[in-house]
Amino acid sequence: MKRDKTICSHAEEYLKLIEGELPLSPEEKFCLTHPARVYIFTIPIRMDSGEMRRFNAYRVQYNDALGPTKGGIRFHPDIDLEEVSTLAFLMGLKTSLSDLPFGGAKGGVEVEPKTLSKGELERLSRGFVRGLYPNLGPQKDIPAPDVYTTPQIMAWMRDEFERISGASAPAVITGKPLALGGSRGRDVATAKGGIYILEHLCSLRREKWLQEMTVVVQGFGNAGLNAAEILSEKGCKIIAVSDSSGGLFQKEGLPIHVLVEAKKSGTALTDISHGSLRDAKKISNEALLELPCDVLVLAALGGQITMQNASHIEARIILELANAPIIAEADTLLFNKGVFVIPDILANAGGVIVSYFEWAQNLEGISWDEKEVFSKLQKQTTAVADSIYLEGKNLRTCAYIKAIRRILEAEKLRGRL
Ligand code: NAD
Repeated sequence: MKRDKTICSHAEEYLKLIEGELPLSPEEKFCLTHPARVYIFTIPIRMDSGEMRRFNAYRVQYNDALGPTKGGIRFHPDIDLEEVSTLAFLMGLKTSLSDLPFGGAKGGVEVEPKTLSKGELERLSRGFVRGLYPNLGPQKDIPAPDVYTTPQIMAWMRDEFERISGASAPAVITGKPLALGGSRGRDVATAKGGIYILEHLCSLRREKWLQEMTVVVQGFGNAGLNAAEILSEKGCKIIAVSDSSGGLFQKEGLPIHVLVEAKKSGTALTDISHGSLRDAKKISNEALLELPCDVLVLAALGGQITMQNASHIEARIILELANAPIIAEADTLLFNKGVFVIPDILANAGGVIVSYFEWAQNLEGISWDEKEVFSKLQKQTTAVADSIYLEGKNLRTCAYIKAIRRILEAEKLRGRL
């Protein structure tokens, strides 16, 4: 049989989770498992040494039935088209679930950004926009930051887009620095939104108070570091955290403010030395995932919990701030084991919700204060959680069903199904 080269096989796997609960016609299934547009290109960069190098780059605009596509750009050495496509599929579900007027997209460049100088990083970022122009735009496709891409990178990308188009277009990209049209609160939005949802769902489930909980955080970047900081301020005991260098474990709780300060000044977690870390032990990322705790926050990369380690997980609640950190099969195993998983398309939607606020403020030429942003974010995230939470049901399945119904309805209304 001829192989379907354009199918997103992970989307197919994820859709199996709702089989039986939401029957899909073959045409609907085709629409959901195939991206609308895929761009594969290379970015030639003059390195500081004078040598020319080319980097593989991808952008997948998965589904645009609900509006212009929206999704981050990742700079990572392991990125490939399959992963970008899966992340774009999930992004489409996320914007749909949160009732945003956007479709889903994702981009990636195959690069180890830590090896680039600032100038090389700028040339690569500008090259990404040149490679995609004219397929980006405030009413077409709006990128944002993701793993190893920063507000500074968004600033260079906005500038490159405007240099080519010859017109100001702040809404072409979100996650920008404040001075270039960024939204207040965007830097902490993913973590903040995730914690609003965690608190809200814990109260619906009549869980103990958040401040009585023990927490483990995998990943100590934008999502993980801010989540650890907010949870620590709320009084939770953060017993372990990790970054790509490895993890730290301290049974009595880690001094999060010390770790945040050191990490922000560029020190890897496992290189931090401080008196308050006397009893801290180094721990592998694998062992960290299996620690007994109330809440495990996954805030690094995808594919962290698989059929190999799912049965060893001892957390009661998992908050998926990362995208796709649990593979589809393992999700069912965890549910049957009684672990309450708050799925990525709900848990980390705070990022894209405040990105939507940023886009809307840019289009209107206005700027909201932080209080207004956070109050709107809390209202929207808790309303979305309320719209899908059903006691005893798998929350991922409920989230998928709502998101998919909205996309399919829009496809039908457009006459494309
Ligand atoms: P980031 O680049 O700021 O941080 C990533 C962190 O993960 C770093 O601390 C890195 O050291 C760590 N890491 C990398 N490999 C690791 C490993 N094997 N084990 C443990 N830690 C590891 O990225 P981010 O923006 O915080 O994104 C993290 C996750 O959250 C990604 O899956 C991303 O798609 C998702 N996400 C982010 C946002 C956002 O607004 N930043 C929004 C939605 C989803």
